[in-house]
Amino acid sequence: MSNLSRMAERISRRTLLKAGAAVSAAGAWSALSSQEVTFRVSGKRIAVSSGNGLRATARAMELMEQGVDTLEAAISGVNIVEEDPNDTSVGYGGLPNERGVVQLDSCVMHGPTYRAGAVAALENIKTPSRVAQKVMERTDHVLLVGQGALEFARAMGFKEENLLTDRAREAWLRWKANLSLEDDWLNDEERQAGAKRPTGTITCLCLNEKGEISGVTTTSGLAFKIPGRVGDSPIIGAGLYVDNDVGAAGSTGRGEANILESGARIVVENMRRGMEPGEACLDVLKRIARRTVESRLLSAPGKPNFGITFYALRKDGLYGAANMHGVARYAVHDGERNAHRESLHLF
Ligand code: ASP
Repeated sequence: MSNLSRMAERISRRTLLKAGAAVSAAGAWSALSSQEVTFRVSGKRIAVSSGNGLRATARAMELMEQGVDTLEAAISGVNIVEEDPNDTSVGYGGLPNERGVVQLDSCVMHGPTYRAGAVAALENIKTPSRVAQKVMERTDHVLLVGQGALEFARAMGFKEENLLTDRAREAWLRWKANLSLEDDWLNDEERQAGAKRPTGTITCLCLNEKGEISGVTTTSGLAFKIPGRVGDSPIIGAGLYVDNDVGAAGSTGRGEANILESGARIVVENMRRGMEPGEACLDVLKRIARRTVESRLLSAPGKPNFGITFYALRKDGLYGAANMHGVARYAVHDGERNAHRESLHLF
């Protein structure tokens, strides 16, 4: 049997019967919970990324076309943004923690071998995704943090650099100056905008023509965070999850909400049961909204006041995304066109 036909869509008779019953029962996807759908290998190459990832999807596609492995392609894509000082949410130039120190989080997951690596609160290395890749390849562990992650990176030959650009340092100073009227830092009225807590991350999911899937998520995390704070981005199952039989999911936005929901893993499980990628993402946003009950996190009952987005890519080449508030742009290269697409949204 050829690889293609072996991996061709096989929806068991039992699944089909149940699926039919469930669909007729007014969209009751939950009735499918124990069912698995298997997906046809479409022979397509697709790269999906967050809105800041158009250069990443272009690079990832170029590499996949040359036969480069999906994980290597995805990481090479996000490296462009990690090394870019103008993206203040990722890698070099990322906004620092409350002490003015840039601490980076990243994880990678390789579908064909079901392996993963991650680093959290890593300082001084521009490309945490590359260090995460080394954790996957060169250790028996999945996640290294802080000083241990830095020592590991040094051992792997990564170059240490100061990651705090002048632009990020100025933003940090504005934030400090606006913290309190009672502290010793002078408030600059003209720079009020700097008091906001900007966030951002890049995720990149890649599928090749053989049906192999991998992903990466990398970030400088929540701006001005408490030193040592780790978000969802380096957490396998939250900021990223890949199952080579089903697909991949990644996330950007409020990491704390995502960690509590294991968002990326649930997106993938939703797809495993037959949901389309966009719907699978939207379902997780609904779960997050339902479980957000603290008033400080709500703008109205049942309506979180924070942003969070999920991105998903299915083994058969379908992709989608969903955003908590309004349409979010995300980047997709479908093998022909590299462009922003619009996400679904919950509110
Ligand atoms: N998810 C990131 C974190 O919580 C931040 C973001 O994407 O905005 O660290």
